[in-house]
Amino acid sequence: MSESSKYLGDCIFCRILTGKEEGTFIYRNDKVSAFLDIHPLFEGHTLVIPNEHFVDISDVSEESLIEVMRVAKVISSLMLKNLNAEGINIMHSTGRPAGQTIHHFHVHILPRKSGDDSEFQKWWFTRSHKASRLELNDLASKLLKK
Ligand code: 5GP
Ligand code: ZN
Repeated sequence: MSESSKYLGDCIFCRILTGKEEGTFIYRNDKVSAFLDIHPLFEGHTLVIPNEHFVDISDVSEESLIEVMRVAKVISSLMLKNLNAEGINIMHSTGRPAGQTIHHFHVHILPRKSGDDSEFQKWWFTRSHKASRLELNDLASKLLKK
């Protein structure tokens, strides 16, 4: 058990899991739960979370992470089948600079349709640049530094 499993503080997602706050659940088992986001970016926007309180990607147990991703696939299939989604984005933020606002590990499942947000695609392509092989190799060495 990780240190975070003994978490006793105030967390909105833990409150939803324990029924102290309302949640619209679409999946629950002994390890993970999925419920609809209260501020959907796209219709059907769903959050998949471990039932145990972990803060972020560095904290979450491998076992919970694997189960979260398995359920992310189940939810994605439901979106494609029943919400007429034509695509899916799976997103996660760790840390405030990355945009994390709720510090209970979660993955966003976003059902997408063609033309539903051209800005999203535009942002991706204007932010990114074609990297040189040298740049990529240098970064790989930095990443793998012991
Ligand atoms: P983050 O910004 O941490 O990646 O995502 C947190 C998400 O939790 C946001 O998309 C936000 O709309 C959602 N959220 C915050 N409070 C609640 C709540 O009380 N209920 C539900 N269902 N979602 C919430
Ligand atoms: Zn929590």
